[in-house]
Amino acid sequence: MLYVCPTPIGNLEDITLRVLRVLKTVDLILAEDTRRTGQLLHHFQISQPVESLHEYNEKEKTAGILEKLQQGQNIALVSDAGTPGISDPGGFLIRAVIEAGLPLEVLPGANAALLGFLQSGLLSHHFVFFGFLPSRRGERRKELEKLKGLPFPIIFYEAPHRLPDMLSDLLAILGDRQASISRELTKKFEETRRGMLSELLDYFAENKPRGEFVVTVAGAEHVEREIDEDDILRVLQNLTAAGLSRKSAVAQVSEEYRLPKNAVYRLALKLKPED
Ligand code: SAM
Repeated sequence: MLYVCPTPIGNLEDITLRVLRVLKTVDLILAEDTRRTGQLLHHFQISQPVESLHEYNEKEKTAGILEKLQQGQNIALVSDAGTPGISDPGGFLIRAVIEAGLPLEVLPGANAALLGFLQSGLLSHHFVFFGFLPSRRGERRKELEKLKGLPFPIIFYEAPHRLPDMLSDLLAILGDRQASISRELTKKFEETRRGMLSELLDYFAENKPRGEFVVTVAGAEHVEREIDEDDILRVLQNLTAAGLSRKSAVAQVSEEYRLPKNAVYRLALKLKPED
């Protein structure tokens, strides 16, 4: 069995009893950084053998790991902090284990993105986890252009030295939106700031960002609300005049303008039957 084991992102109490039991009983622990994981294991008095598995050796080591699993060994996969495979190594091995038809168990545990999202209060039934944006400005802006119209909150990871540039690009491309920045989650200096992107940018221009950050930005809903009802009605009229059924026109408009179908349908009811 390969066990995917989340580890704390700060507070050591956030390791689960199950992760501890698995780490104490496996034949081998694969760690992103053996020294860092060594400290965690030492704290919990775990002395199982540890080998490294990081983004630069994951591909070449995978065949050997599959062999060990086939021989019946139990192996745990951990990253430096949080859940392996989430903006961390592990994805390649997990896929290979699945493809080889070998047993896999993913254990629940700490993850910075979900904590940052909940702290943001920008909650909705749907959200997008993006992780790290590209570090180069041009590529970052291109990526943000693709995200601009999404009507869901988006969760990003960011390093402290890149945070001001990232915020300025978020503001430039997405427009001024509600956002939230959580730093040092579960740690001593944990803090969440909520506000418009412009306010957060001003704050971090004056206060040097320190620590680890999760940034959550509201979805594009506010853009939708600015669309005039008369404009939508006119588009609906044009589409039905061009031969589309009312149902198809509603579907097209709701997709194009990212509006809820039932709201567009309510507008469509205002059309005259011959429209
Ligand atoms: N796999 C991890 C997880 O499940 O959260 C994420 C690993 S990723 C390499 C590291 C990034 O996660 C950091 O740069 C930061 O954006 C975010 N992060 C990790 N720990 C954090 C914390 N305690 N507070 C805020 N953000 C954190």
